[in-house]
Order: sequence, then C-alpha cells, then structure tokens
Amino acid sequence: MKSLYVKFVVITIGIMIFSGIFAFLISNTYYQQKLKPYNDQKNTKIALDIAEFTSSHPDLNLKEYLENISSIGYQIFLVDSSGKESYFGAPFRENTLSDSTKEQVINGDIFHGILNFPQETFVTGFFANELKNSIGVPLTHNEGKYALFLRPDIKLLFNEMHILFGWLLALTIIVSIVMVIVSTKYLIHPISKLTAATKSLSNGNFNVDLDIARHDELGELSHSFLRMANKLEQTDEMRKEFISNISHDIQSPLSNIKGYTNLLESESISPEEKSNYISIINGEIKRLSTLTKQLLLLASLDRDEDLMKVKQFNVGKQIKELVRNYQWQIGEKGITLGFKLPDIEITGDPSLLNTVWDNLLTNAIKYNKPNGSIEIWMEEKENSVAVTFEDTGIGLNDQEKERIFDRFYRVDSARTRLVEGTGLGLSIVAAIVKLHGGLIHVKSKENEGTIFVIELPVS
Ligand code: ADP
Repeated sequence: MKSLYVKFVVITIGIMIFSGIFAFLISNTYYQQKLKPYNDQKNTKIALDIAEFTSSHPDLNLKEYLENISSIGYQIFLVDSSGKESYFGAPFRENTLSDSTKEQVINGDIFHGILNFPQETFVTGFFANELKNSIGVPLTHNEGKYALFLRPDIKLLFNEMHILFGWLLALTIIVSIVMVIVSTKYLIHPISKLTAATKSLSNGNFNVDLDIARHDELGELSHSFLRMANKLEQTDEMRKEFISNISHDIQSPLSNIKGYTNLLESESISPEEKSNYISIINGEIKRLSTLTKQLLLLASLDRDEDLMKVKQFNVGKQIKELVRNYQWQIGEKGITLGFKLPDIEITGDPSLLNTVWDNLLTNAIKYNKPNGSIEIWMEEKENSVAVTFEDTGIGLNDQEKERIFDRFYRVDSARTRLVEGTGLGLSIVAAIVKLHGGLIHVKSKENEGTIFVIELPVS
C-alpha cells in the first residue's frame, strides 16, 4: 500500500514538473510570436547604425571599430566582395551560411536570420549561438563592399544573470520540495492518528486518545470521531448492561420455578402449601411472559418504524375503556380516580397508544399511596392533544426522574422493591411516543406524587 504521504509528495512534485514544462512552452511560444520579431528589428537597427557610421567615416579603422563593438557584447562576422572573411568577438558555435546569402547582403539585401530562425519546441531560438541566427546588413567602407552579420553575445551579456537565474530556479525547486515534504507530514499526521484510533476502536478499545488541536476540517473530523467513540462506548455499555439485566430477570423466576417444583415433588406437603406453591409458580411464569412480551415489543419498536398501523380513533373513549378494566384493582387499593376525557379524535396506532396509557395507569396505581388518588384529563391544544396522568404516589427525586425512561431502570427504594415490575414499561412508552412524533413531560415531587403529560400531534 502506498501511503497517503508518499502519494501527496509525488503528486505535488509531479505538479511542479508539469507546471515548469507548461510555463516553458508558453514562454517559448511568447518568444516566437512576440519577442522574436522585436528582437530582429532591434538588432537590424543596431547593424544599420553601425553600417551607416562606417560609411560616413572613411578614416575609421574598420577592424578596430568592429573589434570594439564586439567587446561591448556582439558576435560579428564580416565578409567582403572577394570572399575574405573575418570574425570579431566570441566565435559562433556553428557558422554555416550559404554563399548566396552573403552575396545578396553584399549587394544590398538585409538578412533577417533572427526572425527566420526555425522554431523548435524546447530550444528557444534566442539562445542559439549560430551564424544563421543573426542579422546581416550591407556595409560600405572606403569604396569596399562588405556584408556585416551580427548577433548579441548572449553569454557575455547575460552570464551573471544566467548564474543568478540558475540559482534562483535551483533554490526555488529545492526549497519547494523540502517544504512539500515537511508540510505534507504536518497535514497527514492527524490522519495517521485517526487511522490508529480507528484500529483501536475496531479492536473494542473505546478509550482513544486524539489530541488534535486544529481548527480545520481535520480538527472537526477528529472531534466528531471522539464524539462517535464516546457514543459507541455508551452503546456498548448499555448493551452489556441490557444483556446482564435480561439474564438476571430471566434467571431469577426460572430458579424460583425450579425451587418450587422441587418442593412440590416432596410427598410431605399439605394441600394449602401445594396450592400456595402453584400460585407462586404461576406468578413467576406470568412475570416471565410479561418480560418477554415487553422485550419483543421493544425490539420491534427499535427495529422499524413501519410497524405502526395508523388510523383515526377516539382517544378519550380508549382511555375510558382502559380505566373501566382497572376499576376493580383501583377500588381494591382504596384509590380514588377521577377523569375528564372528552371525545377527541387523533391519528395514531391505537394498539401501541393503548400500551402507553396502560403503562402510565398501572404505574400510577402501583406507585400510589394507600387512599391516594389518580386524575386523568385530556386537553386539545392548537396542533396537539395533551393527556395528563397525575397521581398522589411516592413520587421521584430529580435524579430518579432523569433515569426512569432507561431500560430496566427501577427506583431502588424499599417501596418500589415491593412492587412487581421489569423497568421496561416507561422505555416502551417513550419509544411509542417518539414514533408518534410526540413529547413526554414529567413533573414529580418525592412523597407527593407524579404528573406525566403525553403530548401527541393531532395528525
Ligand atoms: P416498572 O416495570 O418498574 O414499573 P417502568 O419503566 O414503568 O418500570 O418504570 C420505571 C421506574 O420508574 C419504576 O420502577 C418506578 O420506580 C418509577 N416510576 C414509574 N412511574 C412512577 C410513578 N407514577 N410514581 C413514582 N415512580 C414511578
């Protein structure tokens, strides 16, 4: 596997090389199109000036004069009508030039070698040290006819610049490469850390340490990662706790059932004892059955939202019917119950919502005080219906109130322990209300009572 680091460095250096070549091609085109004609014109003018000066100064020593001109930065080739050739200044790398060209220039033509120098992609004509790449003008001096070919001596003119630009280019390239290597390391570092953290997470270690104090996208990513790791840890904890709770809640009725069936097997038990044991066994079986039903319901509520069978129905009527079913239990406990339940239609799953009212009503009965009371009422709001269950029971303190919707949570008080329950009822209530897009509000005071308000959207 090629690391991201290597890829990044290779790509960046690749981009640098590509842009270098691209820039060179563009500047070469610019030279060919714009600078070459200009360069040709400029040098033609210089050559013509020289020719004019020599013709108007017959006393001048031509060779000395041309020697002087060459020393200020020109390469010069002089040929006279008899074919005698002389060179001034630095030699040309290549000095082929056809005799006809020389002849034409002696006879008065101007030779535009710079302008007509063949284009080559990678060699800018500007630097080609060839006689062909020069300007030729006719020159007369003391009756003699000559051809003067001239081009700027690039080496002499630009030698220092060459070195300077060479250094500039080399340093730019070296420094850029070093910076790319260093800065890429800085950029990639958090990704390596995140990778290590992901590996540790996948091995089940949620305690990942990510000290990435950056304010860019990577900083944001590592924060989200930490939040995710935290959530996963919580979920994992909950899962473990859930399994241990289920195992315990299944194990204890099973061992009770086993204990009492063993007792039933002994021959020396009275008929009263026997019926007592059987009713205990039945109670435990009922507890197990309630637990499995609740677990199945919770699992299906967790799994999909399609399980709702929604229709329009009268909630007021539904709750009144439920109250009627519990009338004997309420009476038995000496609890008084009052309700105000007008006929209000809402859209929802009647069977799931019945489970909600059932749980709230049985809790209000189970956690009430002797001779306590329960009030149930329903109000229509702008877009919702609020159903309130108020009891004068044992109540909850703030800490307990925070946790009552957690799965398997039961308040750990002597009075709660006396009451049958699984700690799943309110988590089911919360899941169903959430599925309906509703809200739950709880108000409670220890030893005074509790109010649950379920707010459901009308449609
Ligand atoms: P349970 O099966 O124990 O009733 P629930 O999920 O319905 O489980 O309730 C969780 C816990 O919240 C209960 O064990 C009880 O301690 C507390 N609780 C629920 N309803 C009431 C209430 N009306 N008054 C006081 N405590 C309540």
